[in-house]
Amino acid sequence: MAHQASSSGSSAGSDRPATHAPKILDGKSLARAVARTTAARVTELRNKIGRAPGLAVILVGENPASKTYVASKHKFAKECGLETFDSHLPATATASDLRKVIESYNANDAVDGILLQLPLPKPLDGLEFVRLISPDKDADGLHPANQGLLLQGTPAPRPCTPLGVMVMLDLALSDLTVTDSTTLAEIPQASLAGKSAVVIGRSQLVGKPMGFLLLERNATVTFAHSKTTDLPAVCRAADIVVAAVGVPRLVKRDWVKPGAIVLDVGINRLPDGKLCGDVDYADVAPVSSAITPVPGGVGPMTVAMLISNTAENCARRNGVSL
Ligand code: NAD
Repeated sequence: MAHQASSSGSSAGSDRPATHAPKILDGKSLARAVARTTAARVTELRNKIGRAPGLAVILVGENPASKTYVASKHKFAKECGLETFDSHLPATATASDLRKVIESYNANDAVDGILLQLPLPKPLDGLEFVRLISPDKDADGLHPANQGLLLQGTPAPRPCTPLGVMVMLDLALSDLTVTDSTTLAEIPQASLAGKSAVVIGRSQLVGKPMGFLLLERNATVTFAHSKTTDLPAVCRAADIVVAAVGVPRLVKRDWVKPGAIVLDVGINRLPDGKLCGDVDYADVAPVSSAITPVPGGVGPMTVAMLISNTAENCARRNGVSL
């Protein structure tokens, strides 16, 4: 694991030398820490309610990336001791076919989390079907009711990717080094009071909820997007940069304030088949105080938080406090 102790880990945006070695935020080892915490919660739930939390995964069609994501979600859920349910519908499935599957999981008391893998094959509209998932079984935190509760600051399943980014940010701002026994509880929740954050991207899936989670922790948040004027200058003003755009290596070194924390959500496939993020990692890393790699950064944390959300849904649905 490539964590390097950051001598000024709690001073994002400070006057650090421009080429200080950054703290590399390794999503794979951090996801293991989430898995240890979730596995302990699953054991506790089993003892209290007599069954493990259940995750239902719905895949429609044969999109290779979706199949890979679904397989990794399944594997992670099993490792944490969850019960899993599977529905793989053909790409020719109708709206009525999909509705029936979602409704059957809504009615199944052994299911605490329903994941509908997006995107759906055309003409099915993913967000239309997310709305059919019972809000208390929403594993992804994308149901409009749960997004409304996010705006109100009320406990509810939060969107997995932004949730994972927040844990990575907490790690960036702590002096903790993740080891083979670290759990989520050991990572202190950082106060972001006085810090400025820019979120590039305003999607319902990532950008918007990301901004509200940062705001909830008292950061001063700017949403930047495709219509923003002078994006490099907007980014340069921030202590924390979250890139959720879908443009390979968009964010360059001169966009980033020395010492800023850089969290890269983007997953882009290059013509040679390799993956890269929305941040030009090699260019930006030397000026950042902490940075996520792609692959191996935010991606594994998204999966980890999905499984964690499912265990929390189970606790909430059964009136158990973990
Ligand atoms: P999206 O296409 O829904 O939204 C992209 C956003 O970026 C839009 O709000 C748009 O305004 C903005 N944008 C587009 N071009 C821009 C530009 N040139 N300058 C500034 N802003 C621009 O995408 P999304 O679903 O939010 O995903 C964003 C990226 O994150 C994609 O690469 C996606 O694959 C990745 N992603 C990763 C994870 C993960 O687990 N790591 C999860 C979800 C999405």
